[in-house]
Amino acid sequence: MSNPPATLNNRFANIKATVSEVLRFSCVDGPGNRLVIFLQGCNFNCKNCHNPHTIDMCDNCGDCIAHCPTQALSLADRSGNSHIVWDADLCEQCDTCLAVCPKQSTPKTRQYSVAEMLLIIRKNSPFITGITVTGGEATLQLHFIIALFSAIKSAQDLQHLTCMVDSNGSLSETGWKKLLPFIDGAMIDLKAWQQATHLWITGRNQHRIFRSLEQLAQCDKLYEVRLLHIPGKTDFDTEIDALAHYLKQLPNATRIKLNAFQNHGVTGEALAWKICSEQDIEQLAKQLTLRGVERLILPAVYI
Ligand code: SF4
Ligand code: SF4
Repeated sequence: MSNPPATLNNRFANIKATVSEVLRFSCVDGPGNRLVIFLQGCNFNCKNCHNPHTIDMCDNCGDCIAHCPTQALSLADRSGNSHIVWDADLCEQCDTCLAVCPKQSTPKTRQYSVAEMLLIIRKNSPFITGITVTGGEATLQLHFIIALFSAIKSAQDLQHLTCMVDSNGSLSETGWKKLLPFIDGAMIDLKAWQQATHLWITGRNQHRIFRSLEQLAQCDKLYEVRLLHIPGKTDFDTEIDALAHYLKQLPNATRIKLNAFQNHGVTGEALAWKICSEQDIEQLAKQLTLRGVERLILPAVYI
C-alpha cells in the first residue's frame, strides 16, 4: 500500500475496520451512485437476516479450513496468536465456510485502514456521488467511520462525495453526537412498531431506535426510514394508525422506504415465512397514504 495522503493525520489513517465487502457502485444505498462499505458485526440477531454470517466476529477457531474445497483458508501466526487467512484468489465463493461456521461469521473479511479505504475511494471518486457505510451494524466500528468521513470531508478532491450511514438505529446519543458532524444523512431501519414484536424479530428492544430517529430528525440528518414488511410477522399493518401518525411528524424531507421481505439468504424459521408480494406492499402503501403519509418509496423489484 502507498503512504496515506499528506493531509491525513497518521493517527486517523491507521484506524482499521473489519470489512466484509466493498461494493464499488450501488444506486439503492442512498442518493445517487454510491460506493458502499459493509462492516462486519451486528448487535441485533434478526430472524429475517439475509446475511447472518455478518453478525459475529470470527474468533479464528479454524473449523472452516478443512471444509474449503480450494484450500483458500489457512491459519497464520500473528504476534503469537492464530489468525484465519483467506486467499481471495483461490476462493470460488461456494460459501461452504459460512455454512459450517459455528458462529454467525465468515473468514472472508479484510482489515482496511482509513488510508487503504481512501485509495479505493479515490480510484472510484469520478464515478460516484457518495459513500455509504453499512453492515452488519456499521456504527459498532464508529472510530473508523468518523476517521474515514472526517478525512473525506477535509480532502479537496473528495468534496463532491456525500457521506451516509445505514444503521439499525441502536447507536447511543453520545455516539450520534460524535458522528453527526461528519455525515450528510442516515438511513435507519424501524423493524417493528410494538416493543414485543421488535424484541421477537431482532432480539433487542427498540427504545434506542426511536431516540435515534428523533435525534437525527432534529438535526435534519434523517434521510430515510426503512420499514421491512413481513406479512403476518411485522406489525406495520395492524398498527397502521399509530405508525402513520408517527411517520407524519417526521421532517418533510425524510423518505419512507417500504421494503418487501424475501427469503433468500435467511436461515431458521424465517425460511418458512411468507414472502412479501407487490400486492402486500401496495396494500400497506395505500393504508399509509390514506392516513396522510407522503414520500413513500416502494421496492423497484420483488426478488
Ligand atoms: S467460499 Fe471460498 S473460502 Fe469459503 S469454502 Fe468456498 S472456496 Fe473456501
Ligand atoms: S469463520 Fe467461523 S469457522 Fe472459520 S475460523 Fe472464523 S469463527 Fe471459525
